[in-house]
Amino acid sequence: MLSRKQQLQYLEAMGIQAWTARHADHDAGAKQEPVVPEPPVAKVPVVNTSAPGVSIPGVFDGADVACLDWPALEARVSECRMCDLHSSRTQTVFGVGNHIADWLVIGEAPGHDEDQQGEPFVGRAGQLLNAMLQAVGLRRDQVYIANILKCRPPNNRDPKPEEVACCEPYLLRQIELIQPRLILAVGRIAAQNLLNTQTPIGKLRGEVHPFRDTGIPLIATYHPAYLLRSPLEKRKSWQDLQLALRTLREQDG
Ligand code: URA
Repeated sequence: MLSRKQQLQYLEAMGIQAWTARHADHDAGAKQEPVVPEPPVAKVPVVNTSAPGVSIPGVFDGADVACLDWPALEARVSECRMCDLHSSRTQTVFGVGNHIADWLVIGEAPGHDEDQQGEPFVGRAGQLLNAMLQAVGLRRDQVYIANILKCRPPNNRDPKPEEVACCEPYLLRQIELIQPRLILAVGRIAAQNLLNTQTPIGKLRGEVHPFRDTGIPLIATYHPAYLLRSPLEKRKSWQDLQLALRTLREQDG
């Protein structure tokens, strides 16, 4: 568990000013407990990972990807040429983190820094994502972080539906391998694609959605890049993270 002092530091990093009682610094000198990963728990079975409309006839078979293990999946992604994005990428950005994570964070697509480094959320938005995770007691390496797309769209434009369709089997296989207890969809693109809806992110956030037919709870929140531009929305994002914590606690019974 985080001490109150640590949590306040992380909230400050998120740009959220928390209300504190006048003498709330009582634990300032207290022994700091390390952040300990949750023990692995019973996982939610994932069924029918090939959503209708995902496969592109004659070009791609998502069912094939659905049998790959981690190394084979990563290798397949690294050589993927299913859509045009392969020609402009520096490298693919597969995903990073704990293969048995409770939390799966899904963003939109690699940006410039991620395309250069081959890891999701390593730029400014990534720094804020790290602070958001720390605010709920999680180190980056305790969760798994992936994107809707594995390749950077030129000039960071929105992903095209055909690009999302080509990439989706990879993400679905990652979800099936991890079997997370919770999916945190960061940003409109991630939330709308995962939930197959056009509903605005402002309406999707703040509640728990089942992720397709897996039943895995999905919570949508604002993208950290948006929060950097609109810091006043950080408070809502903090509420979403607290909803995520409550959802996991309810699963624990
Ligand atoms: N934004 C995303 O959605 N994903 C990244 O990996 C980086 C920035």
